[in-house]
Amino acid sequence: MPSHHVHESEIGDVRLRCPKDGTLMEKSRVASGGVTVDRCAKCGAVWLDKHELERILAAGAADKVDLGPFGKDKPNGPIAPLQCPRDRSIMTEVADARQMHVLVMVCSECGGKLLDAGELIDLANFTVGERIRAVLKM
Ligand SMILES: [Zn+2]
Ligand SMILES: [Zn+2]
Repeated sequence: MPSHHVHESEIGDVRLRCPKDGTLMEKSRVASGGVTVDRCAKCGAVWLDKHELERILAAGAADKVDLGPFGKDKPNGPIAPLQCPRDRSIMTEVADARQMHVLVMVCSECGGKLLDAGELIDLANFTVGERIRAVLKM
């Protein structure tokens, strides 16, 4: 592999490591949202920079980003503090404002979010459901 010096201007294109298992994440471009997300091929976690979650949900592209849960079941219980793959800040677990059972790891430093496999689809489905309910005024 040729050595490659990373310049400041290229930081946005640097491959990130999955905060959960250290695997190099793969870039995935979402055409409809104009967003490039990072996804871990090992655990399926998706890293979204600030505002990318909103853009993906607005574009209805969650199922193109989120490959769904990997393996049989996802680990429950407390997990070790995870570091932001961009700035190494300790991320905090925050319940989604609209869907309290979805816990998203958020970096307060850069506003990035780490979603477990399946969580993005979960959030998107809720959003669609909410829209329908709003229309029906249930
Ligand atoms: Zn991973
Ligand atoms: Zn960060």
